[in-house]
Amino acid sequence: MSETSADQTRTKPQGNNGPRILREKATVAIMIQMYCMGQGHIRNESVEMGPGELCADCKDLFQYSHLRLALCKFGEGKTTCEKCPVHCYKPDRRQQIKAVMKYAGPRMLWSHPLVALRHALDGFTK
Ligand code: SF4
Ligand SMILES: [Zn+2]
Repeated sequence: MSETSADQTRTKPQGNNGPRILREKATVAIMIQMYCMGQGHIRNESVEMGPGELCADCKDLFQYSHLRLALCKFGEGKTTCEKCPVHCYKPDRRQQIKAVMKYAGPRMLWSHPLVALRHALDGFTK
């Protein structure tokens, strides 16, 4: 899956960069990494990939999710994206990130308990 031209024109670093947004970017990065590895995507790539890398689809999703966070209208006052009343993701991207959350959410409780706790607390932000 590749980025649309509309996505590509909006990939310049810009927008929100406060601690809340940076924390969510880090959490999403962990979750996408867990999902990509856990689903065996990296093994399906024809090129050799090292630890910490993502398959092409997950890399696209990673870049897209970080862009949405950079442009999030709620900025530092945001709740978690799962609880967002707006949800600015395109439908196909939303399905992708939901699959990531469903897979990585429960597993993160064990692998990254503090990150999971912080994310849960962020979900109470209105
Ligand atoms: S889904 Fe909602 S909280 Fe998440 S980036 Fe988009 S507008 Fe912000
Ligand atoms: Zn992947």
